[in-house]
Amino acid sequence: MTSRSSISQRERLRVAIHGAVQGVGFRPFVYRLATDMDLPGWVSNSPQGVLVEVEGSPETLRTFLLRLQKERPPRASIQSLEASFLAPVGFGRFEIRPSDGTGERTTLILPDIGTCADCLRDIFDPADRRYLYPFTNCTNCGPRFSIIQALPYDRPNTTMARFAMCEACAAEYENPGDRRFHAQPNACPVCGPHVELWDRVGGPLSTHGRAMGDAVEAIHAGQILAVKGLGGFHLIADARNDEAVRLLRTRKHREEKPLAIMAPCLDWIKVTCEVSPLEERLLSSPESPIVLLRRRRETTDDGGSVAASVAPGNPNLGVMLPYTPLHHILLRELAIPVVATSGNLSDEPICTDEREAVSRLGGLADFFLVHDRPIARHLDDSVARVLLGREQVLRRARGYAPLPVRVDRPLPPLLAVGGHLKNAVAVANRTEVFISQHIGDLETAQAFDAFRRVCADLARLYGLEPGAVACDAPPDYLSTRHAVSTGLPLIRVQHHYTHVLACMAENELSAPVLGVSWDGTGYGLDGTVWGGEFLRIGDAGFDRVAYLRPFPLPGGEQAIKEPRRTAVGLLYELLGDDVVTRDDLAPVRSFSPRERALLARSLARRINAPVTSSAGRLFDAVAALLG
Ligand SMILES: [Zn+2]
Ligand SMILES: [Zn+2]
Repeated sequence: MTSRSSISQRERLRVAIHGAVQGVGFRPFVYRLATDMDLPGWVSNSPQGVLVEVEGSPETLRTFLLRLQKERPPRASIQSLEASFLAPVGFGRFEIRPSDGTGERTTLILPDIGTCADCLRDIFDPADRRYLYPFTNCTNCGPRFSIIQALPYDRPNTTMARFAMCEACAAEYENPGDRRFHAQPNACPVCGPHVELWDRVGGPLSTHGRAMGDAVEAIHAGQILAVKGLGGFHLIADARNDEAVRLLRTRKHREEKPLAIMAPCLDWIKVTCEVSPLEERLLSSPESPIVLLRRRRETTDDGGSVAASVAPGNPNLGVMLPYTPLHHILLRELAIPVVATSGNLSDEPICTDEREAVSRLGGLADFFLVHDRPIARHLDDSVARVLLGREQVLRRARGYAPLPVRVDRPLPPLLAVGGHLKNAVAVANRTEVFISQHIGDLETAQAFDAFRRVCADLARLYGLEPGAVACDAPPDYLSTRHAVSTGLPLIRVQHHYTHVLACMAENELSAPVLGVSWDGTGYGLDGTVWGGEFLRIGDAGFDRVAYLRPFPLPGGEQAIKEPRRTAVGLLYELLGDDVVTRDDLAPVRSFSPRERALLARSLARRINAPVTSSAGRLFDAVAALLG
């Protein structure tokens, strides 16, 4: 132990730390470091991050500052650290002070973190008091964004507020040497949330371990189970049972889109799919996304261990590993892969509340495995893949949201409402852009409600009052209409330009840039439909320097659903009026003489035949031509 220097040589060091420093064991770490170095003072969470004050000799304080950055907890990331030296006030010991809730809220909210190895050991150790407890967590893992209701991140500001800690949990929570020191969602079988199994109308059948056992039995029997997880409900069925999977598809009105699989273990995935080291890391990462993997040929041919109806005709499988203790326990007991698809009807947002689930999913599930820890906001499973040796997140939600993207130029408080399909929204504060979780296609009233909720939620969490709203150009998008309804100044941004700007922000590029935006169809600035654009990006805007050769889309929107129309449009551009007489071309042949006459008139007079440069439609047309 270092001897304390006399008060005259002492200084007080104040450090304000910004970044992902709440909910990662940062205060316990500071506590241990300060007591280890015999420095009195305090640490506290604030809406801006973590504040520390310690007193000691100047050299010790400098060492403290270095170790603070070097030895920080694994999940913490420091964005900035402001240190100042002040006159000492004579602290007696080191303490963790209650959070200071004042000031602007600029700390980062952490995403939910997959179960860590230590907690996994706890839940599968028969001697541990958390043996098979589905809500086990610690400062290195567990729920975060899905339970936070307000900043700073302290238990009363989470959906765990309703559970008072038992003596044993409180002792861990108070003990700086414990892995659960100030773990906000800390819980155990005595004091924490628990599971129940309900029938399809919400009648309770069993609880605790018994409920888990009954749930496992139901899945083995080919039934469909709705499971309340971390960010919403999953519908779960035996992935090897073709009949069960078909039943799930019929009930969910999901005809052929591939379904995701939750695998019992990494070994199973390796037998079924090709897994590179990077893909393996992604599967087992704290984010634990669904990873798109190439199936092994031998399992594609005969269906192998996965029912043919899981991903019909698809060379890839979307696979994830369990990421909460609840899923770990369920999958360990099942010992089979399950289909785990979001608990909703097609095009609706994922369901988060058990009572709502019974009314919305009652026709879809045979049983409900629910629990009493409320979900603060919906979070779908993220989807990622490895492309050209890089991780690419295709759907950014659980595990990733709401981490920000940093930009060079400070922005005023802004809300950006996104497009119509695969919507997500964002709020900007200075150099940080906080991107919401994936919301989905704004095609249903429920999806639009979720969209409005997320817009309000994100701004409220960060205490931001947007001064303007950025939106896509098409006035008929629901997101654009919402932007108009706020009454705030609008910044309308062309759809393909936003794609390039987003790509620039993600890759930290600044103008000038040549952006290639290949897309479906989007509202262009010249009245045509864009989608195969080469845009030169400057500081103040963009020039459309080149684009794919435009062709008409007979039937407009209808052509998106019927690629043979798109093919006829493309052929018309090449062959002119004669195209409708070309019986040797499959797409033309597929129309009756009367339909062909209508097509010819529509194309010649440009009635309901908008012109497009879309790459997506070009691919559709070529696919239709190839049959
Ligand atoms: Zn843990
Ligand atoms: Zn407890």
